[in-house]
Amino acid sequence: MVFVNEKTYQRYVEERREEEFHKEYERALDHIELGKDYPILIGKDEIKLSSKYIVKTPVDTSLTFAITQKDDGTNLRNAIKIARKSFDYWQYSDWKDRVEFAYKAAEELRRRKFELAAILTYENGKNRYEAIAEVDETIDYFLYYAKLLEDNRGYIRQMEGRIYKNEKAFSAMRPYGTWLIISPFNFPLAITATMTLGALLTGNTVVVKPSSDTPVSAYMLVTIMRRAGFPPEAVNYVTIPGELVTPALDEVDGFAFTGSRDVGHKLLKTFINRKPRPAVLELGGKNATIITARADLNKAVEGTFRGAFGFGGQKCSATSRVFIESPIYDEFLKRMKEKVEKSVIGDPRKRETFLGPLINKGAIEKFRRYVKQAVEEGGKILVGGRVIDDEKSYLVEPTIIVDLPYSSPLWKTELFVPILLVKEVRNLEEAVKLANDVDYGLTAGIFSEDPKEIQYFFDHIEAGVVYANRTVGSTTGAMPGVQPFGGWKDSGWTGRNAGGPYYLLSFMREQARTIYD
Ligand code: GLU
Repeated sequence: MVFVNEKTYQRYVEERREEEFHKEYERALDHIELGKDYPILIGKDEIKLSSKYIVKTPVDTSLTFAITQKDDGTNLRNAIKIARKSFDYWQYSDWKDRVEFAYKAAEELRRRKFELAAILTYENGKNRYEAIAEVDETIDYFLYYAKLLEDNRGYIRQMEGRIYKNEKAFSAMRPYGTWLIISPFNFPLAITATMTLGALLTGNTVVVKPSSDTPVSAYMLVTIMRRAGFPPEAVNYVTIPGELVTPALDEVDGFAFTGSRDVGHKLLKTFINRKPRPAVLELGGKNATIITARADLNKAVEGTFRGAFGFGGQKCSATSRVFIESPIYDEFLKRMKEKVEKSVIGDPRKRETFLGPLINKGAIEKFRRYVKQAVEEGGKILVGGRVIDDEKSYLVEPTIIVDLPYSSPLWKTELFVPILLVKEVRNLEEAVKLANDVDYGLTAGIFSEDPKEIQYFFDHIEAGVVYANRTVGSTTGAMPGVQPFGGWKDSGWTGRNAGGPYYLLSFMREQARTIYD
């Protein structure tokens, strides 16, 4: 199979079948089964507990989207035990079988694309375009990693060097054992997939612990993978409050986590203090976009708007700071304001909606707190700033803050809500310096039509994923096999980006094998 990026919406548009796209998605929305009770999955056992999570949808909080089990740690421990046992055989499985299972899973994901997108909309409030894009991204992970394993022939290769005539040497990449996978609410399908698959394809076994806000897409992923051939004992699923997870870190050989820097660092410290072991962490960001006087303003406005406010800024990759050269400062802000004022906020099930709800009440509180703080510290609201609904749904206005003194801690804090801070700068050098003046280093963008400025930006910016003139979302929207996604500085751990050629290596250790005749 040839690796092709899935871009469903674009394809429908090109084929002039746009209406069909909408119909398919809307049909899927109508068929979602609300209020289903999802079990914990340990090996072949499906476990229901008396203690439950009632998962409301942020789209309409009067609806129960799903019910899941609230483990107290017992099931997590059992799941790890089962996963460890299955490592005894899974590590010796043929890599060609694993590749086949991944391709098979990709087929089912493709077949059920609209259904999964509809689940994402209910689960975390993504609009249809972002939801489909996430399913596409998930499929791409499967296709890309499977091809990577194939291209590297299971990561066993003969070494070219030799000292003695009778010596034959190999490098073999081998799995570590059992991994705990802790995934976030913002990409509950795609990010759960990259970490889970990274571990499983390379011969490790896993226990998946999804975000308590978004357990269903991870459940779907695990069941699809099992149906494709990955053994149930090797891919387990447990829903448990995050704060109860720490003790389980003692019992695994590795853990993969995507989420906030503070939680990630805390888990990592506990994990490696007990015993140094591998961990794959994708953490937060405080991503900057720079707009120079040589920018095409149409592109800059479109890209910055989407980067900052797509999915309500709830992406590690979201644009949260903009540095603008003086000559275009006023014009850029005028156009941004117009664009924001025209944006449609509301029910993400509706076709015209750009921005749906934030994930939960906590996010609403955070939004309120940050807007208040920005104003108290001298910032002015250029546009937005209000909570539209914090009962039936969690809707807020995309917000741009100007004139915030640079001494405000908000310049360096990841907000994860749709608040964009902007600042006027004298030149590109100053902009890059400010862009780098944070602990994070995930993504960054520039808008300039001058190749020399772009080169300067690429050479001096401290970030793992950088874009020039990206109208589909300035700092966001990395695609597997196109933009390996991962951060520098506090934004990551390993330096081998998801969706890139080195990702799978994070889940393996090298064994040098030498045979003498
Ligand atoms: N892959 C996503 C993007 O490039 C970001 C993932 C994240 O926010 O964690 O926008």
